[in-house]
Amino acid sequence: MSEFIYTNNIPDTIESEVVVVGGGPAGLCAAVAAARGGAKVLLVEKNAFCGGMATAGMVAPFMTCYDSGGDKMLIRGIFEELVERLIAVGGAIHPSKVESKTAFTSYIDKGHVHVTPFKAESLKIVADEMLAEAGVRILYHTQLVDAEAEGDKVTRIIVAMKEGLASIRAKAFIDCTGDGDLAAKAGAAYTIGNAQGKMQPATMFFTVGGVDTKRVDEDIAKNWDNFYRKDGINYRSLHWRVSEAREAGDWPLDRVSIGLFRGVEEDEFSINTSRVMNIDGTKSESLTEGEIAGRQQVRIIFNFLKKYVPGFENSRLILSGSTLGIRETRHIEGIRTLTVDQILSCEVPEDSIMLAANSVDVHGKYGPKSNEYITIPAGKCYGVPYGTMIPPAFSNLAVAGRPISADCEAAGAIRVMPPCMGIGQAAGTAVAMAVLGGYDLRTLDVKALREKLSADGVMLEA
Ligand SMILES: Cc1cc2nc3c(=O)[nH]c(=O)nc-3n(C[C@H](O)[C@H](O)[C@H](O)COP(=O)(O)OP(=O)(O)OC[C@H]3O[C@@H](n4cnc5c(N)ncnc54)[C@H](O)[C@@H]3O)c2cc1C
Repeated sequence: MSEFIYTNNIPDTIESEVVVVGGGPAGLCAAVAAARGGAKVLLVEKNAFCGGMATAGMVAPFMTCYDSGGDKMLIRGIFEELVERLIAVGGAIHPSKVESKTAFTSYIDKGHVHVTPFKAESLKIVADEMLAEAGVRILYHTQLVDAEAEGDKVTRIIVAMKEGLASIRAKAFIDCTGDGDLAAKAGAAYTIGNAQGKMQPATMFFTVGGVDTKRVDEDIAKNWDNFYRKDGINYRSLHWRVSEAREAGDWPLDRVSIGLFRGVEEDEFSINTSRVMNIDGTKSESLTEGEIAGRQQVRIIFNFLKKYVPGFENSRLILSGSTLGIRETRHIEGIRTLTVDQILSCEVPEDSIMLAANSVDVHGKYGPKSNEYITIPAGKCYGVPYGTMIPPAFSNLAVAGRPISADCEAAGAIRVMPPCMGIGQAAGTAVAMAVLGGYDLRTLDVKALREKLSADGVMLEA
């Protein structure tokens, strides 16, 4: 590819105190928290709605927000408020009412206690409302394409709007793109994938309606002894049906079981089964390849469900994701890094900005058929330190959500949506404090931040 220099006069169209790029689970909570903290906030999102993977990617349910024994709800704050608001419009079921080993958890118990089924459509509207009430200015249809830094400050970002390119200045920025696009463009250090640069596989989610859930339950009950179990715990469902289809030549995929998660409506399921290997979610061409392969797999899986799984005979395919589900891309290097050892030894550092108990979940670690899934000890949790959100090169940039500073396995635990929302709330709160007080994010008073987070309903003591 040859290079050319493109010059243009890009107007400094917009200014804000805080700019959040990306309105996924992390960005939504970051923007709301920063605005409630008193900052003037602009949220920039390339899609036409918020929610990221939860809406565009059709990923559901919200994975557990409880401790690993399922006794205490750990992730609260704005996440809990969002769930309550979704429930009020019939768009979610409270996690306390959702048991593991049921249709809501793909009949798995391992690490799947008290998940939160929700409706993507309700989330889009509730997100708009929460942002509007907090006073956040939203720019949908706007994609970050570049960032500029002077010394230790990110000064502005370049975005592609419907009108063309524009620049946005702010006192501080929060990167919630899921991929660390803003931090990477500004020049922050990062790694990609695991030590070998290999990223977790991608999945095209889809939803199915018209399922007779009672019949699915009966098939599961009949095959309870057939269940793939590790350490006495249900781990995979419907692998007996997948084997049957494979023998009949109807299952060309590498997957050995089906991830099926009942939604808010009794006859609707989110299907988390397709797997596309070797996709780089930071590259358009690779993403395109993954989208096409993912949709092909959706067709195969849906045909399988109708033919082989009792209860799916009269089902209909509602929708596949409008974007491929990307589990892993960049991990931005922060002033602290969360490691899998810290997670598995249930460390709660003094500068934790949230607590979580989500399992380490690395798909495809040992090849296309495999999963690594390690739960943490019952009743325990771990803390996410403040510095994981802060790249050392910048005084006014925070990163929230999936790409925070974490090794590949640790990222495999905190990448699920409730922790991403908790991290987003902490980032928004911290950035508002820094902007209003004139502080450097690298040396922010974390004790004061923790006091503010506690006052806002965030659990910091287990
Ligand atoms: C296949 C799959 C299955 C999963 N299963 C579950 C599950 O069952 N439960 C669970 O809780 N979690 C699950 N997860 C994890 C979870 O969905 C994501 O890790 C989580 O959504 C990350 O949140 P985020 O806000 O960091 O990023 P995202 O959800 O990716 O949101 C990023 C947002 O930024 C926007 N954006 C990106 N780049 C730009 C740009 N350059 N300019 C402007 N906007 C931009 C995107 O449009 C998006 O709205 C799953 C993920 C995948 C991929």
